[in-house]
Amino acid sequence: MSAKIEHLGVAVPSLVEGLKLYRDLLGMQVEFEEEVASEKVRVAGLRAGGATIELLEPTSPDSTIARHLEKRGPGLHHIAFEVEGLAELLPRLKAAGVKLLDETPRPGSRGTRVAFIHPKGALGVLVELVEHKAP
Ligand code: ZN
Repeated sequence: MSAKIEHLGVAVPSLVEGLKLYRDLLGMQVEFEEEVASEKVRVAGLRAGGATIELLEPTSPDSTIARHLEKRGPGLHHIAFEVEGLAELLPRLKAAGVKLLDETPRPGSRGTRVAFIHPKGALGVLVELVEHKAP
């Protein structure tokens, strides 16, 4: 299994504010901007070397990002790793006793399929597993 970092998810109150820092001041290039309805967020992806910074702005007060902002303020929300065979990996993790937030893959940004490992199952870090569709 690959341990390549796919992206870092950063919770922000507004993309405009986030882009001011990452794009305008740090000079990162915006790769995409889209709304992920299933996650109730707007996402701006910025290229940072081989990985991406995903700025996450809530589109609804009941999105997990809105709750994160409320509880902890803006900041690092999760680390995403690229994997292959996500649908087969999840039951293996579950069988090994890893606490999952998603037992089956769901839609992520850019047409990916994603699943989250509960921070209690990943040494305190919210981990997202990302699978790119086969070409
Ligand atoms: Zn993510």
